[in-house]
Amino acid sequence: MFWGFLKVCKNPFDFRNPGNFNFCGFLFRKLYNLALILTTLGVGITSNIIFLGTGGDSYVVGKQVRASGGIVLQVGDDQFHIDPGPGALVMAKETGVNLRANTALLATHNHINHCNDINAVIDAMTYGGFDKKGVLVANNTVINGSAHHTPFLQKYYRDFLEKFIVLEEGKRVGINNIEIEAIGAKHSDPDAIGFKFITPDYTLAYTGDTMYSVEAIDQYDGANVLILNVPYLKKDEGKHGLCKEDAVKIIRRVNPRLAVITHFGINFLKADPLYEVREIQKETNCQVIAAKDGMVVNPVSYAVEQGQKTLYKYAKEEGVRVQEYQKQVAEKAEEINEMIEEKQTRLDEP
Ligand SMILES: [Zn+2]
Ligand SMILES: [Zn+2]
Repeated sequence: MFWGFLKVCKNPFDFRNPGNFNFCGFLFRKLYNLALILTTLGVGITSNIIFLGTGGDSYVVGKQVRASGGIVLQVGDDQFHIDPGPGALVMAKETGVNLRANTALLATHNHINHCNDINAVIDAMTYGGFDKKGVLVANNTVINGSAHHTPFLQKYYRDFLEKFIVLEEGKRVGINNIEIEAIGAKHSDPDAIGFKFITPDYTLAYTGDTMYSVEAIDQYDGANVLILNVPYLKKDEGKHGLCKEDAVKIIRRVNPRLAVITHFGINFLKADPLYEVREIQKETNCQVIAAKDGMVVNPVSYAVEQGQKTLYKYAKEEGVRVQEYQKQVAEKAEEINEMIEEKQTRLDEP
């Protein structure tokens, strides 16, 4: 019986012979149609947060104890790449992220582990300027530099982009149906910012690098998902970033559906982030997770409309998918060929 069924299903995708009723093919077509209808109705817009790096200090990043390629946020067809530090290209490959799909590239400040690979990512996004595309949203220092710092962004690569936007605290920019707001950050780069993404399904706030500040906390309000850069375990380890105690205060106040702790310094890693983050969860009564390199989180599971019951279900079952590195098939040459052909046709037109 089982073998008989398999035989029927031998080639479920073969629709060339309509004379033979193919049960699996029939089922496949029905499911495909259902998926199309759901997509049209706007149900099931895919959304992922992918961590291309979780390292937060020079020791951790320098030895790549944790990677430093930034964070990728996918909302439907849009892809936002935030803080592309050293190794962004390698981590994109390792985690199966196609940088060509970047709608926008974002950088919170002009530090090496946040924007070292900004030019490399622009080059990858645009095939070396062959296909000018994408938006860069960054703080002032990344684009214009400051009295003491030259900007990481080079003019040569800046010109590959469709647009670049300097964002300062409180300013907003809309990209497709997502609104991005710059939130304040107090850091050694005085123009540093964080980002708030207001999507149709949820609001995500990313602190960027900042020390604790009462004023900044207000700006995280309404975030369903909160990503915090917490390099320090203890307060006295450094003054330019958050420590565990600060994270507890912020999470308690914001009360998000999900808080993700990332950007770990060496002492945090030595102490074991899993244990420390569990402590934060106990103290805040919120769902809190420690980011890992390559981790994929589905933020829709944590959106406000889903309710606590769903949150619990997803947290247990599928809200946090830790993705094993997938060796991705090398980017298809077809894509380049198609583009060349398209451009060629356009040039040929009278
Ligand atoms: Zn940093
Ligand atoms: Zn920094």
